[in-house]
Amino acid sequence: MIAIQFCWPDGKAGAFTASYDDGLKEDRRLVEVFNRHGIRGTWCLNSSRVAETVSPDGTVAWPELKTLYAGHEVAAHSVTHPFLDRIPEERILLELIEDRRRLEAGAGCPVKGMSLPNGGYDRRVLAAVARAGIVHCRTVVSTQSFALPVDFLEWHPTCHHRANLTELWQKFLDAKEPHKLFYLWGHSYEFGRQNNWELIEEFGAKVKAAIDAGTLWCATNMQVFEYVTAWRELWCSLDGHSFRNTRGTPVWFKAGKDLIRIGPGETRACPASCPPSRPP
Ligand SMILES: [Zn+2]
Repeated sequence: MIAIQFCWPDGKAGAFTASYDDGLKEDRRLVEVFNRHGIRGTWCLNSSRVAETVSPDGTVAWPELKTLYAGHEVAAHSVTHPFLDRIPEERILLELIEDRRRLEAGAGCPVKGMSLPNGGYDRRVLAAVARAGIVHCRTVVSTQSFALPVDFLEWHPTCHHRANLTELWQKFLDAKEPHKLFYLWGHSYEFGRQNNWELIEEFGAKVKAAIDAGTLWCATNMQVFEYVTAWRELWCSLDGHSFRNTRGTPVWFKAGKDLIRIGPGETRACPASCPPSRPP
């Protein structure tokens, strides 16, 4: 039997993703830091807080949504930022659906990711998240691990940026798991209030060094979701000799020593180095 091993795009050693919540004015500076370091973020916004007009001291505004977050992902965070586990079920659904509707109009694309406001959730919330058409939803439960989520609708991040980033990053670089993922989260305004922008500048430089070395895939939450989902749903014949990718993103895997790429919709046989398939 041929061993099939998960790989990130182009066989990179690991992946990095980040999400930042609330859309306050410091998002502008953090987006600039991320862009300079090749980091793609997911920005979770409360549509009732998005301003009508752009002002340097105001929250992020509708007219700048597409340009500010270009190359990144705009995600939902509920309309008014309640504890979703403390309101009636119908209101939960409204908070999510209405946030999506408004953000989609502003961003000009489907908005199907989110993070939980105040981190509060229960079973009703998770059911409403799925019913609202959300496909990935971040909690505030830091795992300090680099594992892929069991369920993207209850996606526990690696850590908040307050964690010991230097130590955790080194641990991440040293980790051998082929599917390792570092997921950072926080609020951009925390850097302003605590006057510690150097923290994210220094961390960004470390991430950029790994990107430049060709060992790290930097992606939005949605890109990670799409990739891992395509990988998990890869069709594989029972003898391990043929594969079909039914999703819209290419996937990579290792079969023996070979790195294989299968494009969207592509069907292909295993590499020449595999032992030939014979009818039983
Ligand atoms: Zn929030």
